[in-house]
Amino acid sequence: MKYSALTLALQGLRNHRGWRPAWRNATPKKSYDAIIIGGGGHGLGAAYYLASKHGIRNIAVLEKGWLGGGNTARNTMTIRDNFLYPDNARFHHAAVKAWHTLSTELNFNIMLSKRGMTTVLMSERDLSDAQRMVNTTALFGAEHRIIDLAELQQRLPMAASPERLPIVGGIHHPDVVLARHDAIAWAYARAASNLGVDIVENCEVVDIHCDAQGVVGVETTQGRIATRKLGMAVAGHGKQVAAMAEVTLPIETVALQAMVSSPVKPVLDDVVVLRGFNTYFMQSDKGELVMGAGTDPYPSYSQRGSPQIPESVIAAILQVFPMFERMKFMRQWAGVLDITYDNSPIISKTPVDGFYVDVAGSGGFKTTPLAAKMHADLIANDRPDPMINAYSLDRFATGRLILERASYGNR
Ligand SMILES: Cc1cc2nc3c(=O)[nH]c(=O)nc-3n(C[C@H](O)[C@H](O)[C@H](O)COP(=O)(O)OP(=O)(O)OC[C@H]3O[C@@H](n4cnc5c(N)ncnc54)[C@H](O)[C@@H]3O)c2cc1C
Repeated sequence: MKYSALTLALQGLRNHRGWRPAWRNATPKKSYDAIIIGGGGHGLGAAYYLASKHGIRNIAVLEKGWLGGGNTARNTMTIRDNFLYPDNARFHHAAVKAWHTLSTELNFNIMLSKRGMTTVLMSERDLSDAQRMVNTTALFGAEHRIIDLAELQQRLPMAASPERLPIVGGIHHPDVVLARHDAIAWAYARAASNLGVDIVENCEVVDIHCDAQGVVGVETTQGRIATRKLGMAVAGHGKQVAAMAEVTLPIETVALQAMVSSPVKPVLDDVVVLRGFNTYFMQSDKGELVMGAGTDPYPSYSQRGSPQIPESVIAAILQVFPMFERMKFMRQWAGVLDITYDNSPIISKTPVDGFYVDVAGSGGFKTTPLAAKMHADLIANDRPDPMINAYSLDRFATGRLILERASYGNR
């Protein structure tokens, strides 16, 4: 069923009784040409591109819970490309661009909204780091601009004055967009299902079977399934799932939290980053302030998060924006991230033939369409596209790390 204004009008006349489920809930077959573990945006996207771009249609996506119930549904939707190192700057800039055509390609409104991002800088050191990042990203076509104090105050008139805090200026990044997070999972699931991909929910992979030639299949809570090509996109569970194939991934799993206030009328267009406090916030379409920070300070598999993070986020926002002090805090949640040692993604073959991994590195919502496309290409052709050469697992052995600091500080 094609979604359009006409379909909507016709369904309206039928009291919306004619809508069909967006994707088929499949029962797994005995074998597939390719299997993707993980029904988040990355996994569903990889399945869609395998089917649409590489003509491999006998595919299953195996999801242990419900589609998009992992980090895809938990993130704060910021799609940005403020990265310091050339491999990351190139990749993330291309990833941001990839979002702009998705609604049309997938025939699904992912609610892309151009917001812009303003980073508040509070030291000369931040300013000089920012200048370096602006210069690097400019080489790859991204638009970031250092703004002086006067322009910062114009963009964020409610921020504290420099008499109270040593605010020295900021960075403005007009190309930052937000997209409805779970819509991307639903959009890819629907498009992949239309191309014949089997989407299997409540199907946990509990073991990976290999022989001397590589992967031969997976053991799941719905039985054994054979395949020679296995992709993994299981953010937060990468280490455990890869270990099933005896592959060790150099990652640490940590909780990342977000929280929202009760809704108020529109006061803020930009995503605001408080660089010195490692905190960011924005106003959602519903009017809530959506707030977040860096990861919890210790490894954890818990999707709750530690109490000191909400406390420090609220304290930081009130330091710089005292006008929000009477806002009501509404709810908080967390997701678990697989963080690589260099904070950059891994999209790579593994020592086990036929087993491929897509690990976000740090915040990976923004990379969803491009990472999924590259993962699919890798699975189909068994060699990396030049765009992801630098993201190979080998770098942790050769020492060619991409030590990305900007992904933390410049959220
Ligand atoms: C609070 C928070 C805020 C964030 N904000 C941003 C942001 O603003 N911008 C940004 O770019 N990124 C952000 N991120 C990161 C981003 O959400 C993730 O990197 C991205 O969504 C990962 O997508 P994914 O499809 O790889 O993983 P997920 O959506 O987590 O999907 C992985 C799926 O794999 C499934 N799975 C796991 N193990 C198995 C198994 N054994 N068998 C079968 N299925 C399995 C899980 O159930 C899950 O559904 C944020 C994350 C959090 C938690």
